[in-house]
Amino acid sequence: MSDKPIARSSILDIAAYKPGKSKSPTGQALAKLSANESPLGASPKAIHAYRDYAEKLAEYPDGGATALRTAIGEVHGLDPNRIGVGAGSDEILHLLAQAYVGPGDETLMSQYGFLVYPIVTKAAGGTCVQASEMDLKADVDALLAAVTEKTRIVFLANPNNPTGSYLDADEINRLHQGLRADILLVLDAAYAEYVDASDYEAGIALVNRAENVVMTRTFSKIGLAHLRVGWFYGPPHILDVYNRLRGPFNVNGIAQAAAEAAVQDVEFTAELKRHNAEMRELLVRELQSNRFKTYPSQCNFVLTEFADEPGFTAADAFNLLMEKGLIVREMHSYGLPNCLRISVGTEAQMKLVIQTLQEMSEHG
Ligand SMILES: *Cc1c(COP(=O)(O)O)cnc(C)c1O
Repeated sequence: MSDKPIARSSILDIAAYKPGKSKSPTGQALAKLSANESPLGASPKAIHAYRDYAEKLAEYPDGGATALRTAIGEVHGLDPNRIGVGAGSDEILHLLAQAYVGPGDETLMSQYGFLVYPIVTKAAGGTCVQASEMDLKADVDALLAAVTEKTRIVFLANPNNPTGSYLDADEINRLHQGLRADILLVLDAAYAEYVDASDYEAGIALVNRAENVVMTRTFSKIGLAHLRVGWFYGPPHILDVYNRLRGPFNVNGIAQAAAEAAVQDVEFTAELKRHNAEMRELLVRELQSNRFKTYPSQCNFVLTEFADEPGFTAADAFNLLMEKGLIVREMHSYGLPNCLRISVGTEAQMKLVIQTLQEMSEHG
């Protein structure tokens, strides 16, 4: 017998998720280009709704998040009864794994997919299998080849964090067609608001015609990361399961009110997208003209690859940027040690990134 309570071994096997840093080793606060947050802050309407909420703190929130689900439904043209909300899409991913995965089961993800998927899988007692990628892009054939009789969920971030790559609607349909009906396909569209590829679909059409597909979304990348609000669109039988499992008040009322205002503020979301497209293009163009390799991105960040030579490595770039007060995301945990993920920030921040890396490429 142990002298203290011991967690299940599958929990102790989890490598805790490392969020993007916001401070230097000396504790200096830095401009954060490490967590794909909104560089324009939150929607002013969401801030207003947040402030207005203070009088209601003693009351329980609406556990059904009716007003928020109705607003999401109106803006996206969806039936609110097929929408579920969570404390960030992280919570939704966790609960889907809890519901559909158990000991001995497998989930499937792509090699450079989002690192929350192995965490939620292990938390549910399962094993997360990774299918190899070509050129940092999910490979439908490799995913289908990795399906086994134990597979319960396929998690695909589309477009993907940290690579920025995406699969077009035809590829997603091909993936879905190749999966057994009892396998849940989770399309994590956390960056859907930033995509401009015309052959992309976030997953709504597929959810509408399938019983085994869920599309997850988040408010975190459009200005409300702090409040923890995500949502998903799925078939009624999955909503039923989700509503049994979730905490009765899993999304707090302040978050619901701010998210409701944020989703209705379509002008602000459009402005974020416009800013992002412009800055992402500037960043990519300037980095490429300084001979840095960038991976094509549909998101609000750019994955940049550095050389193996002293003076030009990802670690050198990371340290130089930190000296200028900018923190970006190192990619060791993703198995991409030569890369840095740079979030799109303000114009001044992007110019400072460009200038810093230009000096590095010139002087070594
Ligand atoms: C940021 C992100 C999420 C969203 O997380 P929240 O819990 O909603 O903040 C989900 N999936 C991917 C791929 C992400 O990058």
